[in-house]
Amino acid sequence: MTFDALVVGGGIVGAACARALLREGLSVGWIEREAVGGGATAAGMGHVVVMDDSEAQFALTRYSRELWDALVEEMPKDVEFERRGTLWVAADEEELAAVSSKKTFYEERGVQAELLDAKALYEAEPELREGMAGGFLVAGDSVIYAPCATRWLGVGATRITGEVIDMGDGWVKLRNGDELSAAVVVCAMGTWATELFPALPVKPRKGHLAITDRYPGAVRHQLIELGYLKSAHGNATESVAFNVQPRKTGQLLIGSSRQYGVTNGAVEEHMVSRMLSRAVRYLPALAEMSVLRLWTGFRAATPDKLPIVGLCPGMSRSYLATGHEGLGITTSLGTAELIADLVQRRTGVLNAESYSAGRFAECRS
Ligand SMILES: Cc1cc2nc3c(=O)[nH]c(=O)nc-3n(C[C@H](O)[C@H](O)[C@H](O)COP(=O)(O)OP(=O)(O)OC[C@H]3O[C@@H](n4cnc5c(N)ncnc54)[C@H](O)[C@@H]3O)c2cc1C
Repeated sequence: MTFDALVVGGGIVGAACARALLREGLSVGWIEREAVGGGATAAGMGHVVVMDDSEAQFALTRYSRELWDALVEEMPKDVEFERRGTLWVAADEEELAAVSSKKTFYEERGVQAELLDAKALYEAEPELREGMAGGFLVAGDSVIYAPCATRWLGVGATRITGEVIDMGDGWVKLRNGDELSAAVVVCAMGTWATELFPALPVKPRKGHLAITDRYPGAVRHQLIELGYLKSAHGNATESVAFNVQPRKTGQLLIGSSRQYGVTNGAVEEHMVSRMLSRAVRYLPALAEMSVLRLWTGFRAATPDKLPIVGLCPGMSRSYLATGHEGLGITTSLGTAELIADLVQRRTGVLNAESYSAGRFAECRS
């Protein structure tokens, strides 16, 4: 088996990279040790969202959302694309006051956003608890079902089942003893990338999600508390934030929790209880709904909350595409374009330096 490119990791980032490299005319071998779409990708919420924690994050999420939008016509039904929009909920006047600068930030960068007063908020989402101050609506954000999107994005790549135990410049070694080489190798192993590249500053960050029975129409938008960014982008050992997503089935996905320093994937009662209490605080009707299933997953977190995309330090043929934390479903497509641009040595839409491993001192030595 010979390929122009090898992509290691069958998550949504690997799938998107495989697709972009195929489009560039390369033959692609796609290596996964388990099921495609079964890692963090299966655990995620599937919210395609523009986020403003930093300029680089905004640029990557905005560009990626545009790339998802460009695919809508060709997506199979099981990708379950829905333009739900994100409604950021302001619990009090202080939070509401802060969103007007958020609106300016989005609009100056070409993303349409709307401020909602309390009346407009309750028209949009009647089930929210009384007394909320207003909201911030980003109508262009959407929702997908990531495991099916992963399988679809990877169509055309040759699937190779195996575990990569070593990787160098343009080659990988599998546990069964096979060695494969290619002009381009992409390590898209999510949180497991540190097994091959221990110097990478990527830490697993555990998250819980719950899914309810079917309650069609109970919620219309992806709802998030404005404090979410404090949870997602802060460094607290444990945090929760209100985050609810309506699915096409009428079910509601309820998140979200974040934990550092935990490697056991078991569902933890104290985190579930904190997460669900927080959700009920915003959406009292949830207290009457049945939760069918709970699960956990591990986000690959970096210190600056940006992914690591670009050449492996000291190499010229092997690339990294990891560290996407809670945004890898959204940013998979932008990541893949960054990789394709680097492989083709062309300037793309994004500033590749912002995402390169070289921004971390430990990757330069
Ligand atoms: C609770 C939760 C909610 C989330 N919600 C969202 C959301 O709403 N929106 C969003 O954009 N993002 C969300 N995310 C983040 C998103 O799920 C991840 O960023 C994204 O799925 C990462 O994809 P990946 O392909 O990098 O990693 P993964 O999906 O983890 O894929 C990595 C793959 O590599 C394989 N692998 C690892 N080691 C080897 C090896 N040695 N050899 C061969 N294969 C190997 C693994 O088996 C795995 O399949 C969420 C994450 C969590 C945990």
